[in-house]
Amino acid sequence: MQEDIARLIELQKIDLEILKLERSIAEIPQELKKAKKESEILKEKINILEKTIEEKDKQKNLFEEELKEEQKRLKQTQARLTQIRGSRDYQILLREIEEMKKTIRLKEDEILKLMEEIEKLEKERDNLKAQLEKVQEVLDEETKKFEKFCEEINAEKEKLLKKRSEIAGKISGGILKKYEVIRQKKGGIGIAAVENGVCEGCFMSVPPQLYNELQKDNRFYECPHCKRIIYYKRIYHKEEEFLPENS
Ligand SMILES: [Zn+2]
Repeated sequence: MQEDIARLIELQKIDLEILKLERSIAEIPQELKKAKKESEILKEKINILEKTIEEKDKQKNLFEEELKEEQKRLKQTQARLTQIRGSRDYQILLREIEEMKKTIRLKEDEILKLMEEIEKLEKERDNLKAQLEKVQEVLDEETKKFEKFCEEINAEKEKLLKKRSEIAGKISGGILKKYEVIRQKKGGIGIAAVENGVCEGCFMSVPPQLYNELQKDNRFYECPHCKRIIYYKRIYHKEEEFLPENS
């Protein structure tokens, strides 16, 4: 039994746990994603509505100004009417007044229509705002939940990293470095057991001679296929972990 191998096995276990922890917080949870998306969509809709309301409001103000002008003109014209009687100008003025009244009515209708439209849009906007408030609550809650989860995971990771560095400190530099390099390249697994002649890193058979040496020898070997450090499983693992050997 090689101490370095035993420690590397322990290190590999920890590294896989760390990897699992990192993966668990690498992606934002579905609920949080959904709430975020919903909030964005609602905000966009509210934004568009508010712009439309603003434009209609401007239009309404403009019409109201025009209405005031028209009413002023009407009053002035009506005042002039009292000064001229019986003449042809009187008739012309009367017709002008009728025209003005018609314009005023149309303008008033337009304003009323705009007011109704604005009211409808404002109601719609308020509805969306109420929806947004609810979504925002969910979003805040989910964000907090995820942040808390990340904190817990990171605290756990810190503990593992501490344990890791203690173990790594006891492993000879050369073999540790080899393990690290392979681990980086090979999906997080740098050392693999060989059982029944098969490397458990890549699930390929190791040549029989190497398998024989592995069972007798204490030296480090590497899998000819995946280049991971390999060891004979039965030396390092407890008996109950094994199925009967076929070979
Ligand atoms: Zn292999």
